[in-house]
Amino acid sequence: MKMRTRLAPSPTGEIHVGSIRTLLYDYALAKQSEGELVLRIEDTDQSRYVEGSVERMLKVIKDYGLKWDEGPEVGGPYQPYFQSQRLDIYKKYALELVEKGNAYYCFCDEDRLNKVREGQKEMGGVTKYDRFCLNLSKEDVEENLKKGKPYVIRMKVPSDVDIEVEDMVLGKLTFPSNDLDDQVLIKSDGFPTYHLAVVVDDHLMKITHVLRGREWLPSTPKHVLLYEFFGWEKPKFIHLPLLRETDSTKKLSKRTGSVSALGFLEEGYLPEALLNFMMFLGWNPGTEREVYSLDDFVKDFSIEKIQKSEMAAFDRQKLLWFNGLYIRNLPLEDLWNRVVKWHEEYSEKLNLKNSTDARNLKILEIVRERMKKLSEFNDITFYFFEEPKIDKKTAEKFSGDSKKAHEIIDNFIEVYKNIPSEKWNVPDLDAISHEKLAEFSYKPKEAFMTIRYITTGCESTPPLFDVLGLLGKEETLKRLKKF
Ligand code: GLU
Repeated sequence: MKMRTRLAPSPTGEIHVGSIRTLLYDYALAKQSEGELVLRIEDTDQSRYVEGSVERMLKVIKDYGLKWDEGPEVGGPYQPYFQSQRLDIYKKYALELVEKGNAYYCFCDEDRLNKVREGQKEMGGVTKYDRFCLNLSKEDVEENLKKGKPYVIRMKVPSDVDIEVEDMVLGKLTFPSNDLDDQVLIKSDGFPTYHLAVVVDDHLMKITHVLRGREWLPSTPKHVLLYEFFGWEKPKFIHLPLLRETDSTKKLSKRTGSVSALGFLEEGYLPEALLNFMMFLGWNPGTEREVYSLDDFVKDFSIEKIQKSEMAAFDRQKLLWFNGLYIRNLPLEDLWNRVVKWHEEYSEKLNLKNSTDARNLKILEIVRERMKKLSEFNDITFYFFEEPKIDKKTAEKFSGDSKKAHEIIDNFIEVYKNIPSEKWNVPDLDAISHEKLAEFSYKPKEAFMTIRYITTGCESTPPLFDVLGLLGKEETLKRLKKF
């Protein structure tokens, strides 16, 4: 059976990383069944609209390597895919419910609603609309409308029934209708609420499977009621675990790191690594396998293996591990292009003074083992492009005193001066340096750490002779002499 799934983000800010997880599962179901993935923009809350967020959302989804079959930019048979352009549709369906007796006009103003709420709070009960307008006569309604009195349309929740929500992962869940408010369906500004719009659109757009985070579960009984009022077949519901920090039961927090999908790209994570990591936030193949390409995931993903748990731990260390893995496994030129692109897009330009493409690739080759994020390239390679700053005290600490440090450097200046340029390569540098080390009776650490620090300004670098090989004879000698 072809599955039609959808992601329905609201443009109220940056798209959350959890939405990419949901989208990934939507994508897999649609692809594996040769169905379609719909992207619908739920922009019905005008007060929370954030300028530019739709454009950023679309770009981020594409930057993650995912795409939608219907929606903004690509169109489709059920357009428009922006809810703000579908107001007449929602109004028509809301009126149908009024007609059927499943919804009613409400003319209560904010003042009255507040008073009712306050009263209920004082009594210690739940705060719900008190149904003041439920039994207005047709004539009263007509008259109020004619007078232009502001109104909302509310759904009429039946009393004393159990509403059953069938979730494909969680099973059958029951919600007492008395806990539900007479939910507003059409607001006084003429816009629908999420609840009406989501049900109408999922129906009209022939969505077969609704995947969304658990935070939406309390809304689902309202949706079930609406489907029943309309006499429509319900889609299958699948509520996914919420994401939490590993050391807490609370949801992802900005204090710990990125939360938005864009934030992780800005931090220097590769989209493939992020997707691979997120595949496991609510799903598990039940095997030891951890590394999945998107195509393989599409093949293996199944609803039966979605986890029932309420939350999934978002292990940032594990994400870093995945990223390092993907950085190490990308073809070198590919990785180089990513490094360049990342710097162009999210950071200052790469520092590539006096460097050639071939040299850049070699530099990348020797540092990639140490790179966990694209953003780290500049920091761990700067000394190839500019002279490092040297702190005298640090330079002297490896050999114990200033005299010894200078003696070591003087001796190695002589050694390196005498290496002909054509022998300035890693194996020869390595062999000659070790031979001379023995001759001078230096300990490896005191000599090589001093040289490393003076030529790079760092105490930790790729293997020293890889570094000197790339730095070149002239530059190496220049830095040693300067010290
Ligand atoms: N507009 C909702 C959101 O912002 C959609 C929730 C749903 O998938 O039903 O996530």
